[in-house]
Amino acid sequence: MAHGAHRTPLLPPRPDLALARDCEQCLGWGTVVTRDGHHELCHTCQPGPAEGAARTPCS
Ligand SMILES: [Zn+2]
Repeated sequence: MAHGAHRTPLLPPRPDLALARDCEQCLGWGTVVTRDGHHELCHTCQPGPAEGAARTPCS
């Protein structure tokens, strides 16, 4: 029982669920699963992890 069969996927940065609520791409999750089984921010409703700081909805 030394092998960890259950791999813990990398958790994506917290998506904005308010933006994802009406998104049909991610069904409100804010993240999508790639073909490799990784979770990524939904490109449809999420601004993106890198350029997210550039756009601030309300400050
Ligand atoms: Zn989405």
